[in-house]
Amino acid sequence: MTKVVVAMMEHETNTFSPVPTPLERFGRGGFGVPTGPEVVERFAGTGTGIGAFLDVAIENGMEIVSPLAANAAPSGKVQAGAYAEMTDRICDAVAAGCDAVFLDLHGAMVAETTNDGEGTLLARIRSIAPEVPIAISLDLHANMTDAIVDNCDILVGYKTYPHLDMYEAGRHAGELLVRKLAGEINPVMVWDSRPILAQTLRMGHEDEPMGPLLEMARAQEAAGLLASSVFGGFPLADIWHAGLSVVTIADGDQRAAEAARDAILEAAWAERDEFVFDSQPLADTIASAKELDLGDVGPIILLDHCDNAASGGTQDTVAVLAEVLEQQLPDVAMFAICDPQAVAEMTATGVGNEITLDLGGKVDMPAIGRVGEPLRVTGTVRALTDGRFTITVPMGRGTTSDMGNAAVLEIPSGDSSVKVVVISRNNEPWDPGCFRSVGIEPTHMQYLILKSRIHYRAGFSELSARDIPCNGVGVTSSDNSLFTFEHVRRPIHPLDENVSATPEYGPAPA
Ligand SMILES: [Zn+2]
Repeated sequence: MTKVVVAMMEHETNTFSPVPTPLERFGRGGFGVPTGPEVVERFAGTGTGIGAFLDVAIENGMEIVSPLAANAAPSGKVQAGAYAEMTDRICDAVAAGCDAVFLDLHGAMVAETTNDGEGTLLARIRSIAPEVPIAISLDLHANMTDAIVDNCDILVGYKTYPHLDMYEAGRHAGELLVRKLAGEINPVMVWDSRPILAQTLRMGHEDEPMGPLLEMARAQEAAGLLASSVFGGFPLADIWHAGLSVVTIADGDQRAAEAARDAILEAAWAERDEFVFDSQPLADTIASAKELDLGDVGPIILLDHCDNAASGGTQDTVAVLAEVLEQQLPDVAMFAICDPQAVAEMTATGVGNEITLDLGGKVDMPAIGRVGEPLRVTGTVRALTDGRFTITVPMGRGTTSDMGNAAVLEIPSGDSSVKVVVISRNNEPWDPGCFRSVGIEPTHMQYLILKSRIHYRAGFSELSARDIPCNGVGVTSSDNSLFTFEHVRRPIHPLDENVSATPEYGPAPA
């Protein structure tokens, strides 16, 4: 019986984020980091990479060993102890003996002890078991390295953002490895990058410039390439190798893999200016949102993208909320301010009672030179919950979303109100369950403030009329001038001018 080690270790690290990343952050739903049979129980069949790997293993009659399924909301560098614990568990499982390894990874993990969380793990696995084939699935925001590509056999990235195809990417990678084990294919993998520090707001698969690049990858696979993956990269990781890359896998034909890779990279380079996001002043944006003729077309989304929890935001900045209250927009619901202290105060106050408190602004952001600025508000507590709900949209379908203890504060605004969901654990809104589980029906609102960037589209596109990016405050801003980049390789577009497509960099620092 083929014995396979199946694990998930996912974290997108924002090196500018002040939010800490201990091991505890990798558990959810009130449980710790699942291990052993609990991994299969909780993740088989779910809309995740590991869910697909487990399904492939089960369908092929493999014996499954699962040391862990760890996934944390993006934040600062993974603490040394957490990284050691997770990678030790995976490596111990491999060292105990196996025939194959399936890993659901992110590709942009930075730990206190390594700038390349995935590459360092894969190199270690290779040194333990040089002959054991490894398949991995990666996030579209992976920052690619030689260590990642050199130390696995099959690598498939998501082709969507929001990440609707996490399951498909895992299944794609898992099935290719099954075919390799059976001797049916001879995967040859190549990769390369271009010096583009692309902004994630410009990486939606429904938009240009990313959409057409992902379509090229799909077309290459339809024409016979084993896999073609485009990675926009994660620009808020200030590490040498951050940026856009392409990985292709052909069946025994290195030149075919290289040609496909280069075609996409050339197209990406031609569109490099389109990967830059331009923002407008916040007060102007909110004023024009207020003027919109709403009719009955569903809520308008005000996108508080500079403080996106799923890119390392503190999720407690209040600039957009304050402006909405200042201009008195009606019928607004917001997800969310992450402020455990405020939730505790609202819990003590109780549902139906009025409270005056300092909302948000508890966390300083030294990387952008700002201290936390709470908003003093008075409102009524409308709900208190344990903050858990089951995800129903394809992205993560069937898994538990855990926002920690949650509360709803209704603050008067104009003739109506703003209902703010206040939570205790960082949680990006992409499934409408984040509102419905606390008693708010999002389709009944005129405006939704979402601390998100693109993922909200997974569950909110269909029920909203339009979305408006709002230039708030936070460590996920798209304004590069707010950040001091010290480690990313230079020159790189758009931080530098007149960058060539293939600058001479010399070797990457160890
Ligand atoms: Zn991503």
